[in-house]
Amino acid sequence: MKVFNTYTRRKEEFIPVAPGCVRMYNCGPTVYNYATIGNFRAYVFADVLRRTLEYFGYAVTQVVNITDVGHMTSDADEGEDKMAKAAREQKKDPWQVAAFYTEAFFRDIAALNIRPAQEYPRATAHVPEMIAIIERLIAQGHAYVVNGNVYYDVSTFPGYGALSGNTLDQLNAGARIEINPEKRHPQDFALWKQDARHVMQWDSPWGRGFPGWHIECSAMSVKYLGEQFDIHTGGEDNIFPHHECEIAQTEGATGKRPWVKYWMHTRFLLVNGQKMSKSLGNFFTLRDLTEKGLDPMAIRYVLMSTHYRQPLNFTLESVEAGREAIRRLKDFRTRLGEASAAQDNPALEEALEAGRRGFEAGLSDDLNTSAALAALYDMVREVNKLTLSRADAQRALALLERFDSVMGVLSGSEESLDAEIERLIQERLDARKRRDFKTSDRIRDDLKARGILLEDSAGGTRWKRA
Ligand code: AMP
Ligand code: ZN
Repeated sequence: MKVFNTYTRRKEEFIPVAPGCVRMYNCGPTVYNYATIGNFRAYVFADVLRRTLEYFGYAVTQVVNITDVGHMTSDADEGEDKMAKAAREQKKDPWQVAAFYTEAFFRDIAALNIRPAQEYPRATAHVPEMIAIIERLIAQGHAYVVNGNVYYDVSTFPGYGALSGNTLDQLNAGARIEINPEKRHPQDFALWKQDARHVMQWDSPWGRGFPGWHIECSAMSVKYLGEQFDIHTGGEDNIFPHHECEIAQTEGATGKRPWVKYWMHTRFLLVNGQKMSKSLGNFFTLRDLTEKGLDPMAIRYVLMSTHYRQPLNFTLESVEAGREAIRRLKDFRTRLGEASAAQDNPALEEALEAGRRGFEAGLSDDLNTSAALAALYDMVREVNKLTLSRADAQRALALLERFDSVMGVLSGSEESLDAEIERLIQERLDARKRRDFKTSDRIRDDLKARGILLEDSAGGTRWKRA
């Protein structure tokens, strides 16, 4: 399998650090609002990547972070914390805002049949780990303290800019007038900040404050995946400054290179040629669309069927085309279920084999899902010409099911419902551990309203359908 590595700017043969196993970190949502369909392009891509790796036999460990502190309204260090701003506007505390939108995120990914990751670490639950990395960076001369703020000194990390292609000279030439006199260089970024007005604060060796945005991903990925791992993903806007800073932090602290072997970035989902984003106001959330009666599986189809490095313009017509494509595949499945010829058809083998080769060749070529789907449709056309026995049909159905283990659009509803229930039960347990009984009761009541009953016992929580 070949993947395009943003770091080297070319397609490379995928060879995991440890044979047979893949460790992958995906930059996840900032939970101050509902995720947009644009965000879901990035998450569906990560899901299809994970499913493809599993299809090819790898055991994948996937970690998706939940950003619930430190992400400022500007991706540089300026502005207000997005969580604090949302809390102020919604007249709630940021913890409530985070709990609400984290739950919404889990519901949405289940509706889109995104397989649950092994871990969803929250930034606010990993402040000690962040402090530990910052201390290492200070000890090694990569970071400095000014008035209770800690900054990363980019001039100490020669590789700064290698991922994005920005050199410090270029960046400094383009920088606006120095706004923060505490920084030694305009490109230095905050690791820890003091701001008496911020509603989320922790004790640290530098006084009370809160972590910068980038440090969470270094701390949490290293904690759950180790100091060197295989794949790190995000949308293209994450390349700079977020991922550039993550590399400087992690490699600066551990001294091990490369921290991440393959960097993969999703191109933006566009609306009328512009990035779909909350700040531009040109966005749809998943519920905006499902409330219009659109099927989440058709939306998944749209997000999954275009190669992740091609621009994708989102339209309601494309969702309609996605629905139609799924219907054609389901019709194919139904026809196979009706096959009843007495004789096996010797031509089937070649049709299936060609389909399998084409599908896998597409995926192996940097996850070219549109090429993989084209091979699937060729196969459907060939198989439809054949008269099949029941045994033939079973073989074709088994292959279609295998393809759908990657596409995730045919068997979506049942698989994802069970995963969502498990997820909510875990959320409820976490809420109870925090003694947040309002949230835990709400989750129980929501599930009850959907016909799912929970039974708590010493051994854990079990569920059944009412
Ligand atoms: P955020 O919640 O802003 O931290 O973003 C979460 C993820 O969604 C990040 O990986 C972003 O790069 C990605 N993202 C944001 N907008 C888009 C978009 N229009 N298309 C694709 N990915 C996006
Ligand atoms: Zn991140």
